[in-house]
Amino acid sequence: MMNFLRRRLSDSSFIANLPNGYMTDLQRPEPQQPPPSSSASPATPAAAASSPASERRQPPQSAPPQPQPQQSAGSSFFSSLSNAVKQTAASAGLVDASSAAAKKFKLLLVIDEPQTDWGKCFRGKKVHGEYDIKVEQVQFSEINLVAHAEGSYVVDIQAFRNGTKVVRSFRPDFVLVRQHSFSMAENEDFRNLIIGMHYAGIPSVNSLESIYNFCDKPWVFAQMVSIYKTLGVEKFPLIEQTFYPNHKEMLSLPTFPVVVKIGHAHSGMGKVKVDNHYDFQDIASVVALTQTYATTEPFIDSKYDIRIQKIGSNYKAYMRTSISGNWKTNTGSAMLEQIAMSDKYKLWVDTCSEMFGGLDICAVKAVHGKDGKDYIFEVMDCAMPLIGEHQAEDRQLITDLVVSKMNQLLSKTPVPSPQRPTATQQPQSGSLKEPEPNKIPPQRPPPQANHSL
Ligand code: ATP
Repeated sequence: MMNFLRRRLSDSSFIANLPNGYMTDLQRPEPQQPPPSSSASPATPAAAASSPASERRQPPQSAPPQPQPQQSAGSSFFSSLSNAVKQTAASAGLVDASSAAAKKFKLLLVIDEPQTDWGKCFRGKKVHGEYDIKVEQVQFSEINLVAHAEGSYVVDIQAFRNGTKVVRSFRPDFVLVRQHSFSMAENEDFRNLIIGMHYAGIPSVNSLESIYNFCDKPWVFAQMVSIYKTLGVEKFPLIEQTFYPNHKEMLSLPTFPVVVKIGHAHSGMGKVKVDNHYDFQDIASVVALTQTYATTEPFIDSKYDIRIQKIGSNYKAYMRTSISGNWKTNTGSAMLEQIAMSDKYKLWVDTCSEMFGGLDICAVKAVHGKDGKDYIFEVMDCAMPLIGEHQAEDRQLITDLVVSKMNQLLSKTPVPSPQRPTATQQPQSGSLKEPEPNKIPPQRPPPQANHSL
C-alpha cells in the first residue's frame, strides 16, 4: 500500500490533485488537521444532487487557485505529506490493515446525473446487517481510475461542486451505473472506464460485461435476433431490421418509408425517417462521412410506443403517445400511461433480461402500429431513464436490488487487496514439471447471472 502511495506521490498530478488544504497544510510545522469528513465535503451526494446538471459542463466562474508543491518545506514537508496521504487514504477506504477493521461501511459508486439523490435512497440501508452504505455519486465525465492486475484499484473524482473544485480518491466496493457509457455524440465515450472497472473486478448493477456489450445497438439487436429465431415472430415480434457495416451496401430498399439509424446514439439522435429512394441515397452519403455502421427498418405508422421494464423482479408496462406529432415519441411532447402487464410482455422482457449473462435492470421497447401489430425494436439496460408516476418507487426498487446484490457479492469481513506472492513461485525441488503460472485469487465471487432477486 505504501509503495502504491509512494508511486502516486511521485506523480505530480496526484500532488496537484490533493484536496485543497492538504498542500497548504504542508507549510505548517506539525499540522494536526482532522481527517476530512466526507459528509462535510462538497462532493457528498446531497451536494451533488443540489447542483444543476448544466453546472458540470461549465468551467467555474473563478477557478480556485491550484495548490502548488512547495519548493523547500524542510522535514515537515514529508511528515505533513505522509499525514495528508494517510488522511486521503483513510477517507478513500484505501488502507487495508488497522483502519480497514474500523471501516464499517461499504462504498457504493453511483454513476448518474446529479438530479437524482442516490445518497438519500441508500440512507439507513445496511449490507450484512452491519455495514452502512456510503454513496459517492458522480458522472462518468468526473471520474478516472487506475486498476492493477493484483487487485488494487483507485477511482479518482475531479468535479466542480458549486464552483469549487473537488478532488478525491477512493476505492468503491460496488458500482451502480445509471448513465449511458457510450454515445457517438462528442465526448460521450466512457467505455475505457467500464473496461477499467471490469479490470478492477468491481461488482456492479448491471454487470460490467453486459454494460460493455450494450455499447453497440446492433450488437444488442443481434441478441434479439437470436431470441426471435428461438421464440418465433408470434411470441417475439421483432422489427425487420437490416444492418450495414458502412455506407457501401446502402444502395436501395424495396419499400419506403424507412427509419435509418446511424451509429450508436441516444435520445433520438442519428435516427432519420426516409421517404424515398433519393433521400435514402442522401442519407447513405452522410453515413459515408460518419465512419460507422447504420441500420434500416420499416417505418411503422404507430399508434403508440410500448415500454416494458424490469427492475429485479418488478415489472411495469407503459404506453407513450406522441402529442406534438413527432414520429419519435421521445422527442417533443408525449403522453405517458401505465398499462397492464401481460404474459406476452413478460415473456419479451424475461427473455431479453437473460442476454449477456443476465440484466438486473432492462426494458424492452416496441411500437404498436395502426395495423394492430407490435414491433419490438430495442432493449435498454441499466442506463434506462425512469419514466412515469412511479419513479420514486422505481428508485427504491433499484436501491433494494443493489443492496441485495451487495449482500450477495461482497465479503462479510474487510478483505485487503489480494497480493501477488512476493517471490516468484518456483517448482518444487526435484520436480521437472513446468511451474504453474501464478494464480491470482479472485477478489470476490464473480458477478452472477442470477437476476431475479
Ligand atoms: P435511446 O435514447 O433509448 O437509446 P433513441 O431514442 O435514440 O434510443 P429509438 O428509441 O430507436 O432511438 O427511436 C426513437 C423513437 O423513434 C422511438 O421511441 C419511437 O417512437 C420512434 N421509432 C423508432 N423506430 C421506429 C420505427 N421503425 N418506426 C416508427 N417509429 C420508430
